[in-house]
Amino acid sequence: MKYPIRNSVIILGIVLIGIGIYSSWQMEKRLPSVDYTTFLAQLTSDEIRTVEIMGGEIRATDKYGQNFQTFAPDIKLLLPKLEERNVTIRARPEAKSFGFFESTLPLLLVIGAWMYWSRKNKQTEPAMKGKDSLVPKDVAGKVTFADVAGIDEAKEELMETVDFLRDSERFTRLGGRIPKGVLLQGPPGTGKTLLAKAIAGEAGVPFFSISGSDFVEMYVGVGASRVRHLFEEAKKQSPCIIFLDEIDAVGRSRGASGMSQGGGDEREQTLNALLVEMDGFQSDETVIIVAATNRPDVLDPALLRPGRFDRQVTILPPDVKGRAMILAVHARNIKMAKDVTMDMVAMTTPGFTGAELANLMNEAALMAARKDKEQVDLADIEEAKDKILMGVERKGMVIRDEEKKVTAYHEAGHAIIATLLPDADPVHKITIIPRGRAMGVTQQVPLDDRHSYSQEYLRDRIKILLGGRTAEQIVFNRFTTGASNDLQVATEIATRMVCEWGMSPVLGPRAYVAGDQGFLGGGRPRPLAYSEATGQLIDSEINKIIEDCLQESMIILQGKDDFLHNLARHLLEKETINGAEVEKIMKASP
Ligand code: ADP
Ligand code: ZN
Repeated sequence: MKYPIRNSVIILGIVLIGIGIYSSWQMEKRLPSVDYTTFLAQLTSDEIRTVEIMGGEIRATDKYGQNFQTFAPDIKLLLPKLEERNVTIRARPEAKSFGFFESTLPLLLVIGAWMYWSRKNKQTEPAMKGKDSLVPKDVAGKVTFADVAGIDEAKEELMETVDFLRDSERFTRLGGRIPKGVLLQGPPGTGKTLLAKAIAGEAGVPFFSISGSDFVEMYVGVGASRVRHLFEEAKKQSPCIIFLDEIDAVGRSRGASGMSQGGGDEREQTLNALLVEMDGFQSDETVIIVAATNRPDVLDPALLRPGRFDRQVTILPPDVKGRAMILAVHARNIKMAKDVTMDMVAMTTPGFTGAELANLMNEAALMAARKDKEQVDLADIEEAKDKILMGVERKGMVIRDEEKKVTAYHEAGHAIIATLLPDADPVHKITIIPRGRAMGVTQQVPLDDRHSYSQEYLRDRIKILLGGRTAEQIVFNRFTTGASNDLQVATEIATRMVCEWGMSPVLGPRAYVAGDQGFLGGGRPRPLAYSEATGQLIDSEINKIIEDCLQESMIILQGKDDFLHNLARHLLEKETINGAEVEKIMKASP
């Protein structure tokens, strides 16, 4: 070779450029991606908070704070939809390197393939990206159990873990083995991360944190090596905690894997590395792994075997007492008006998670500050809650009088049925101010936290849902599109009554779908096998429930047309009416 040095410099240069582009390309791709249809569905159900648009690529953040990306076939068509849903839109010019990237694509593919194979074959440890996230965050003394409220059972169970970390010798003295893994399972925002940090804080030990989604969609081999590196670091600092967020991203069982494009292979390697590390602790190393997931149903059983994540703690959204306590934690630094009690706020926030309650307090404080108030009062909290539950008021929206009138009758229809049915949750508030996607809203708030529902309650819910449309029919003798969401929910309830809860006398106590929708909600029920004849029967039973409820809602509203007209009139005048006022109007209507 004539110019060996120059040649190798050129090759090195090409490789470096290749690595640079390859890695930035990979970095771009690291967000989990969903298909456009899924994204649209989430958008329609108001789950999307912000989007960032680059060319056709969209990065979105949903209301749970999860980030993902998708690709839109036509941004121009999407934009009006985003605006309609009040999504915060950020746009960036298309990445400049794209043209360059495209022109060098063949070369990159060659380099990429070469890197892929050399890594695979030589098992070299690739450069660590974001190594700094492995450096323990010093949380000791910052987050403690005092910051975690309303989930006392989980706290109690984890007190034990704190003891292990504080004084492991006391427990291993007689030959016992300290549990290695704790799995925290529960919906997003219930405080799993907070709890893990609090364990570290209470025990005064380092806290290493990494998320399962960091592992996937990475360079081949990086996931596994990152796991090894993480455990190596952690062992040096024993006793300590490793927090593995979203463990389902790596720990999905093979059967349940929804991964495509061979990503599953990489994930499996990562999972294996994790299992090997968990099994390989020395007895003098106290490293406790706390993992979090909202999909325990998809986890690989190997993870749950004794000696691995054999402690499992379930965290559910708090009940009314728990909510009051969580609210109190987040109201610590807020100047609150004297007449506001956290019990009051807790009563009207059923189903809120800790994260949503924290958000509520913060929004209320901002709301009051915007109005230059000295204190946060109930009105601010109510307004913040409406904003979180129903989206921002669309004050600028022009509504025709006719449309407003239809909405007033529609909401009055819901509210009257809810007021008159004995088992229904009381009406908290009705509004015909459009928010988000809804033209109006009737809010009911249950008196207590329910965990199971009777057949009567469910039927009443369907009647209430159909009440809006029925009122429209009685008064205007025609329908608008405003009832589509009501119909969807009503149909879903009726379907579940028949297929999941055995509430059809004809079909009997048999399940026609399987799969956990439970508190996780992430799983989709899949139909079990049944004959075509049974399928027709299911259809007709669902129809029957809806038809019966429709009839009843019609009878109720037809018998109360004074109430209906009065309530609609008040709504048109005031736009928002609370539960007590509804009662008053009812008493005033013969
Ligand atoms: P998860 O990890 O379950 O998704 P996080 O721990 O990230 O939830 O919770 C997000 C935020 O919500 C926390 O930082 C905290 O401010 C608040 N939060 C959630 N649960 C609680 C709780 N039980 N007590 C106090 N604050 C909570
Ligand atoms: Zn409605």
